[in-house]
Amino acid sequence: MSNWVEARVKDVVWWSDTLFSLIVNADVEPFKAGQFTKLSMMKDEKRIARAYSYVNAPSSPDLEFYLINVQDGLLSQQLAQLKQGDTVMIERRASGFFTLDEVPQSEQLWMLSTGTAIGPFLSMLEHGEVWQQFDQITLVHGVRLNSDLSYQNSIAALQQKYTGLNYVPVVSREDGAVGLQGRITDHIQAQTLFSHVDLTPTPNTAQFMICGNPDMVKDTSALLIEQGYRRNRRKEPGHITVEQYW
Ligand SMILES: Cc1cc2nc3c(=O)[nH]c(=O)nc-3n(C[C@H](O)[C@H](O)[C@H](O)COP(=O)(O)OP(=O)(O)OC[C@H]3O[C@@H](n4cnc5c(N)ncnc54)[C@H](O)[C@@H]3O)c2cc1C
Repeated sequence: MSNWVEARVKDVVWWSDTLFSLIVNADVEPFKAGQFTKLSMMKDEKRIARAYSYVNAPSSPDLEFYLINVQDGLLSQQLAQLKQGDTVMIERRASGFFTLDEVPQSEQLWMLSTGTAIGPFLSMLEHGEVWQQFDQITLVHGVRLNSDLSYQNSIAALQQKYTGLNYVPVVSREDGAVGLQGRITDHIQAQTLFSHVDLTPTPNTAQFMICGNPDMVKDTSALLIEQGYRRNRRKEPGHITVEQYW
C-alpha cells in the first residue's frame, strides 16, 4: 500500500503575513503527540516532500499543521497557496522520537520552542497524557515579534484547564507585550526564565524538550549540559530531548 494518501484541506488559518495553520482530513495511521509526518506536492513533475509536526491531539479527526511560508521555500510557498477544498498528499505513517515515551518522569517539564516548533508541544498538551508524567509544565515560545505569537486562545484554554501550566513567550525583536524580551538562551544563562515562573529546575527535578531552530536547539542544549543536565539516551536516561527543524 502506498505510504502517500490524499488529504483534503478543511481550513487554512492565517495568523500573520507568513504564519498559517493548515487543517486537513485524511486517512492516516494513528500517531503519537510530538511526531511529524510529511506533506508533499508536485512541482515541475517532481514530488517535493517536507516534514511537518502534528499540532492536533492524536484523538482529533482534523489534522493540523502550523507552518511558516519560508521566503523562496520550495514547498512551503506552494502549501501557502492552498485553499479550502484543495488536496495535498500526506504520508500515512508518522515518524519521529520527539515523544513523551522517550522522556523520563520528573516534577517539571520545560517545553522550549521557537517559531512553528510550538506545534508538537500543543499536540502533547491537547492530548493531556503529559500530566501523568509531570506536575509543572512550562511552555516557552521564542519568536521575533509579538504578532508571531499564534495560538493564544488555545494556550489560554489549556491554562484554564491545567493550573500547573506556565506559558512564557520570549520575544526577541521588540518589547514583549507579555512574557520576556530577548532570547531563550540568554534567559537560561541568566536564570531569568526560571525565576519568571518561580521554579528552580535541577537535574533531579526537571526534563527539557527543545524543538525548532537548530542554533537555539544546540545552544540551549550546550548551556544545560554546562549546568549538569545530560542528553536522554534510551540506554542512559538524562534530561534533554531535542528535535531540529532544519
Ligand atoms: C522533524 C521536522 C518537523 C518539522 N515540522 C515543521 C512544522 O511543523 N512547521 C514548519 O513550518 N516547518 C517544519 N519543518 C520544516 C519543514 O520540513 C521545511 O523545511 C520547511 O517548510 C521549509 O521547506 P521549503 O521547501 O519551503 O523550504 P526549503 O527550500 O527546503 O528551505 C529550507 C530553509 O527554510 C528555512 N526553514 C525551514 N523550516 C523553517 C521553519 N519551521 N521556520 C523558519 N525557517 C525554516 C531554513 O532556513 C531552511 O534552511 C520540520 C522539519 C523537520 C525536520
